[in-house]
Amino acid sequence: MNAILKFPKTLQQAVAYFSDPARTFDYAVKLRWPEGTVTCPRCNSTEHSFISTRRMWFCKGCKKQFTVKVGTVFEDSPLGMDKWMIAVWLITNCKNGISSYEIGRALGITQKSAWFMMHRVRMAMHSESFFKLGGHGKEVEVDEAFIGGKARNMHRDVRLRKMVTMGDKAKTPVLGILERGGHVRAHVISSRKKKPLQAEVRQHVVAESALFTDALPSYEGLIRDYKHQVIDHAVAYVDGRVHTNNLENFWSLLKRALRGTYVNVEPFHLFRYLDEQTFRWNYRKDLNDGVRFHRVMNHVARKRLTYSELTGKDTDSLHQ
Ligand SMILES: [Zn+2]
Repeated sequence: MNAILKFPKTLQQAVAYFSDPARTFDYAVKLRWPEGTVTCPRCNSTEHSFISTRRMWFCKGCKKQFTVKVGTVFEDSPLGMDKWMIAVWLITNCKNGISSYEIGRALGITQKSAWFMMHRVRMAMHSESFFKLGGHGKEVEVDEAFIGGKARNMHRDVRLRKMVTMGDKAKTPVLGILERGGHVRAHVISSRKKKPLQAEVRQHVVAESALFTDALPSYEGLIRDYKHQVIDHAVAYVDGRVHTNNLENFWSLLKRALRGTYVNVEPFHLFRYLDEQTFRWNYRKDLNDGVRFHRVMNHVARKRLTYSELTGKDTDSLHQ
């Protein structure tokens, strides 16, 4: 790494740092192949020649060319790595979220390109571990919320259509699970009924953990596996350690981000916004923006998202 220009900690430093294509390329290569051996993403061959003028490799195994983007969320994107780096930086570090319109304006690209870019970055932000939350002596809050397009934020025709076809179902139930002093997870659930709700809890929380929920009857029965205590919000919001206040904070941040910047999130895409918000929450105490940025960049490899996968549609005029 360049000794004069240290790794950026602020947006201004990031713009300067990634304005140099050679430096950006070196950074991307180090992230992509941390062991230091450049490997063909198609055939895993390590026999290749580097075409320095185009910053790509020719693989002697499969006789094809590859770039540092192949096999990452950046694959097939004609946008330069400098733009990608700044987009990742902004999405990772804007506490209340940032809209595709703002990203588009900041980078001089269309809103549509920016929207697609942001979903790819969110995919990299999905970093859930296979380990469950909670454990012996750990306290876990569980709470549900309804997230969805508030009628006033929708275009009139969309609003009318939704009201006719969906009614109240325009809001999507989400279950949040938060380990105090640890991480939060939030997932779309099919309904607030007992079965899907408890299945979600059991999948993500270690048995025997202390569990705090509100008085929703769907939670009844969890006492068999957990030290379950209920706070009845009709009576009080806090009773000693029995509360779900940390999750309430998480919901209000999530709702503020969705309301303020994302205007209208289709239920189909909601899980990606949840990934984004849980990531930001879980790493909010990181030392600085640069550390958070680097953490997301560590996840971009071996993840791909094509436009057709994202929308069910095909397009070839995305990045103009
Ligand atoms: Zn190859």
